[in-house]
Amino acid sequence: MTAEFDPREITPRADELAGRVIAITGASDGIGRALAVACARHGANVILIGRNSRKLEQVHSEIEAAGWPDATIAVLDLEKALAQDYDRLAQAVMERFGRLDGLVHNAAILGMLAPIEHYDVPTWCRVLHVNVTAAFALTQVLLPALKQSQDASVLFTTSNVGRRGRAYWGAYAVSKFAVEGLTQVLAAELQDISAVRVNAINPGRARTRMRRQAYPSESLEALPAPEDLVGPYIVLLGPSSRGITGRSFDCLPAPEGASAPRS
Ligand code: NDP
Repeated sequence: MTAEFDPREITPRADELAGRVIAITGASDGIGRALAVACARHGANVILIGRNSRKLEQVHSEIEAAGWPDATIAVLDLEKALAQDYDRLAQAVMERFGRLDGLVHNAAILGMLAPIEHYDVPTWCRVLHVNVTAAFALTQVLLPALKQSQDASVLFTTSNVGRRGRAYWGAYAVSKFAVEGLTQVLAAELQDISAVRVNAINPGRARTRMRRQAYPSESLEALPAPEDLVGPYIVLLGPSSRGITGRSFDCLPAPEGASAPRS
């Protein structure tokens, strides 16, 4: 594949993900929820990872009612999970499926918008933990399952503020810079020794709770719905992007958010 590969230019087939097992963190709400439903619609067995079992059950019911492939719920609070919780999840994936074909690190928290000078230290630690350390730990325990796949895709979720620093975005921006770095390091490590590819994707502005938290006075109705952004994710999880690794992609052509952040 060439350097010009752009997942926005590819329309995924209806059965793009048929036979694939794909785990998604933060599958209970926002982009993760829309992506989980879209992956199931495209034929994947989805592992719904999140901290709120009631919300995950609603997503599970939606997939079941539509008659798409079976989804599985995995309750994991990325802020509180301990080593044995990660191990238990990895063991369950191996026992049930024997492999993992896709892992989407979508869950994240915004923390606070504040100058570094005044940024609350515990909030900083929490944001870095959920957005980066938990994604690292989950990837690490699931790598044996990913290596069992013929064509595995790991996707980290980035943001415009993870590519160019923006005042007041604090730990969230730093966590997304870290995610970009983790993507490159892991991709380089796995490139010649496995069939696991690793990329980052920036959804851009989306009509979700996180966007509302970051821009409370903005009209959410003008923003793309999460369902409208999932196409490039599906392409990056499916066979059309085989061989693509270590890259960072966008779902939208325009930069995310033009208005000034609030604190
Ligand atoms: P939402 O706040 O709508 O959803 C976040 C998801 O992460 C929810 O499912 C939430 O679970 C889950 N989550 C949060 N904390 C934890 C935790 N401790 N353990 C497990 N799950 C957790 O966010 P978005 O859908 O907007 O964001 C999705 C991704 O897209 C994030 O990585 C975000 O940084 C990125 N992004 C979003 C943009 C936007 O405009 N919306 C722009 C650029 C990037 P629960 O339902 O239990 O709260």
